[in-house]
Amino acid sequence: MKNSLKEKAHKTKSRIHSFRSLRTVYTLLVLLILVSAGFITASVYIILYTLDFIPSAALTPLILPVIMLFSCMIIGTILALFVGKLFIDPLRQLIAANEEIRHGNFKVRMSEHTIIGELNNLMNSFNSMADELEATELFRNDFINSFSHEFKTPIVSIRGFARQLQKDNDLHLLSDEQRKEYTDIIAYESDRLARLSSNILMLTKFENQQIVTDKTEFYLDEQIRRIVLLLEKQWTAAEVEIELDLDEIKYSFNEEMLSQMWLNLIGNAIKFSGKGGKVTVSCKKKKDFIYVEIGDNGEGISKESLHKIFEKFYQCDTSHKSNGNGLGLAIVKRIAELANAEITVKSEAGAGTTFYVNLPTIET
Ligand code: ADP
Repeated sequence: MKNSLKEKAHKTKSRIHSFRSLRTVYTLLVLLILVSAGFITASVYIILYTLDFIPSAALTPLILPVIMLFSCMIIGTILALFVGKLFIDPLRQLIAANEEIRHGNFKVRMSEHTIIGELNNLMNSFNSMADELEATELFRNDFINSFSHEFKTPIVSIRGFARQLQKDNDLHLLSDEQRKEYTDIIAYESDRLARLSSNILMLTKFENQQIVTDKTEFYLDEQIRRIVLLLEKQWTAAEVEIELDLDEIKYSFNEEMLSQMWLNLIGNAIKFSGKGGKVTVSCKKKKDFIYVEIGDNGEGISKESLHKIFEKFYQCDTSHKSNGNGLGLAIVKRIAELANAEITVKSEAGAGTTFYVNLPTIET
């Protein structure tokens, strides 16, 4: 990398030929200063000599100043060339590295260091900038890959089963059960697509939002009860027992946004507690905080997955067979950020999971 940067720095040198290079300007400047210094010395010498202030001048009076002038020029120019190399070479490499970044190569780094502090700082900040850009690029690619994968899978499935049904219109090979199964799959996958699009839209909206609008005052306990009722179909189908311990607490925030947080957390607790499981939801107010806990006695989350669950599209089960798209907790995290709330999770594989949300009651 170091050598290739050097080569590119060399190319940069030839590309900027239409301008004076820094090294040339610097050398010419030093040369000019030295020539001026030489001329001034020589002039002073001649004036002093003419005014007889230097009585014992040599036989050929101009030889000394001329020698001085030329030695100044030669020594000064050589020194300028060497000293200039110290800071001009790194600058050239930096220009070449910037060009690489401009062309999308975020892996480029400055490896050379100089004895000049400011240049070292410049190189270090270039490397930090390249680190950030590389991380953003990785994140973007990752997001696009996951997004395309999540979108493509249901579309492929819908297309496949729709074609089978189309063919059957002419050939009548499918049984009634098969036809019902195929239409069920098409309906299920379309729902999944619709959920995915609305979750993406919601997350993008919350991510672009810096302040919370439409704040109203409402009872938090009532809001949670409403969400539990909304999810009744899910918990009765899974025979999940719900236990509520909710204090009467007034809270001021965007009601719809906060509802979404409870919907995702309680929905997950029901989904992952499994058949015959138990979900507990409590909310208590102490001093300046409201403490909400949502727990289940389900499958739990492994240690390795625990720090990744808030990432977009992350699902612990890589087969993605659960009814979800890995965006629910990313939305929860963003809502918590907007509410200045702290969200933590404790989980043990096989024993269950609890999410803790600490909502501040004093607005900051
Ligand atoms: P999903 O749509 O898959 O539920 P989420 O972003 O809501 O996406 O959750 C990400 C992943 O975190 C889930 O796929 C699941 O593996 C894990 N997870 C979330 N909540 C729980 C929970 N209560 N119990 C076990 N695993 C959970």
